[in-house]
Amino acid sequence: MKPTILIIEDESGIVDNIVYALKTEGFDTIWCSTGMEGLETVRSKEITLVLLDIGLPDINGFELFKELRKKSDVPVIFLTARSEEIDRVVGLEMGADDYVTKPFSPRELTARVKAVLRRLKQAAAEKEVQVEVKPSRPKDFPFEYDERRNAVYYRGVQVQTSRYEYRILKILIDHPGWVYTREQLMEMAWEEPDMSLARTVDAHIKNLRRKLKDITPDCDPIVTHRGSGYALKEDW
Ligand code: CA
Repeated sequence: MKPTILIIEDESGIVDNIVYALKTEGFDTIWCSTGMEGLETVRSKEITLVLLDIGLPDINGFELFKELRKKSDVPVIFLTARSEEIDRVVGLEMGADDYVTKPFSPRELTARVKAVLRRLKQAAAEKEVQVEVKPSRPKDFPFEYDERRNAVYYRGVQVQTSRYEYRILKILIDHPGWVYTREQLMEMAWEEPDMSLARTVDAHIKNLRRKLKDITPDCDPIVTHRGSGYALKEDW
């Protein structure tokens, strides 16, 4: 799906230029000539970014921006005509993503649009990396794995695993206590999951149990949840 740029601007001559430039760069556009229409469109449609004129016939662009922010955090670039407007955009730190001063070239505008979207994408990617931090583990957690070697260590001893055993064990180790069904384990560990073979997961678990028991005969780290699936023991 193409990104959609909403243009809230009452001068059709300006809009024509913007629409042409944005379409050339692969964007879809929606044009609203009043603020109220624009607000409604943000509420009802999937909008990637808003170009917002400040001098609108029905509402001041700043007021509209405040209304918009109550409902949505869509990125906004102000289109400003006068220097006092620029002062307000900058001075009030309204949280807009950028502004462009009229008259502007369509090329300049599309460059700004792309820059804002790129920045947001990077910020989102960085956030995702931060969220992906591994959950904290009990101090005596006995498992470690080395992804470069496809090796799992239990109480410091390497578990001799097959490829799928390694992958299943790693999934369980990543979230002790989380119960995974056979189907989920198959989905996550196999390149081409075949649900009719989900029972083979049981066989791999059985092998893993045996190998882990060889290391600690009186402890079974894999818990079976009857009728639902498998989990790694949570308390260590
Ligand atoms: Ca205007």
